[in-house]
Amino acid sequence: MTWNWLSPTRLFFGNGAIAGNYEEMKALGKRALIVTGKGGSAVRNGSLQDLCQALSDCNISWEIFREVEANPSVETVRRGAAAAREAQTEFIAGLGGGSPLDAAKAIAVLAINDITDEELFAVRFTAALPMVAVPTTAGTGSEVTPYSILTYHAIENKKSIFSPAIIPAIAYIDPAYTRDIPFNITADTAVDAYSHALEGYLAVKSNPMSDLIAREALRISGTELKLLASGTNPGTAGREALIYASTLAGLVISQTGTSIPHAMGYPLTHFKGVPHGRANGILMPAYLAFTLRKSGNPRVMEALQCSGFGSLQEFQKIMRDLCGPVPQCSDHEQARFIEICSKAKNLSNNIVRPSQQDLALILRESLQA
Ligand code: NAP
Ligand code: FE
Repeated sequence: MTWNWLSPTRLFFGNGAIAGNYEEMKALGKRALIVTGKGGSAVRNGSLQDLCQALSDCNISWEIFREVEANPSVETVRRGAAAAREAQTEFIAGLGGGSPLDAAKAIAVLAINDITDEELFAVRFTAALPMVAVPTTAGTGSEVTPYSILTYHAIENKKSIFSPAIIPAIAYIDPAYTRDIPFNITADTAVDAYSHALEGYLAVKSNPMSDLIAREALRISGTELKLLASGTNPGTAGREALIYASTLAGLVISQTGTSIPHAMGYPLTHFKGVPHGRANGILMPAYLAFTLRKSGNPRVMEALQCSGFGSLQEFQKIMRDLCGPVPQCSDHEQARFIEICSKAKNLSNNIVRPSQQDLALILRESLQA
């Protein structure tokens, strides 16, 4: 077996992560663009103030681009890149959930590469501005991944950019910023983190080291998901566990990539407005049942056991409790979603490759729940 590992992000984890380690940012430049969400959560959770204070203490000047919507579009990141150029930005600081972090990565590319949208997704670039990532949700792990996922209206779907050039140089992971996340966003993002560990564990591209990290992420997320499914809002220790598991799961997919639930979930988000993590949660039970049925691979049950689930049925019940009612989709819509998502490359990253018919069955089963 041969494999390699690239994980260059300098991680600072724990309460006060920025305040205790801000000097690291000095090496990145003198002018920063902070990229954050449009809803103002970065102000309310204190992360924006901490970052601005740290930049001031480093004598780094900054501008703020606070226009990032959930599932950010190519148009938004182009506006962010224009702001970065205008301010002669030397590095980008992404602050928020996966949406601002992913937008920051694409802005870091477009700030110094004059390329078309097609060239952006085809990775016709070799460099990006350096990046700092401050996650304020516990879900995507984007602070350590080489992916930026954008809404690309030209293909009526979300699409991923993959390049080592967009892996953040520094990540400040402070669980305190996640303390007041509303319950539904906490659950959706926790399911996203879990799906990263699960899909990574069952990926063709998994390796012994990603497996080791995936098992730990499954163990921690599985415990937390059960608590969330029972309606328990996480306390301080739970919040820390959730964001730790999210970063671990990000490290997993940074090496393995994702597979079927992510590929199939994007149309549910794009057309039906289902939050990203919840879309994965709706699809995961049928995806697991399919993978078990078609492969008989013991890794499926191993993954569930690592997570503390005794059976597929138990897992399905927890996902139903967490993800709530499924969206109504007509036969015509389902056929369209399958046609769109069947173009995704990561479908072949699952230990069994699904046919178009398999995908249709997984979607039908998932939407019956
Ligand atoms: P998000 O879209 O970044 O944020 C969802 C909501 O949570 C927003 O309304 C946001 O408000 C709010 N929020 C963020 N932090 C908060 C806090 N601390 N307290 C209260 N509210 C808070 O959600 P996400 O699930 O983190 O990210 C999803 C995106 O990441 C999707 O586009 C998905 O495809 C992508 N993703 C990326 C990777 C990767 O490797 N790059 C992996 C998986 C998923 P504001 O408007 O104020 O920000
Ligand atoms: Fe995800």
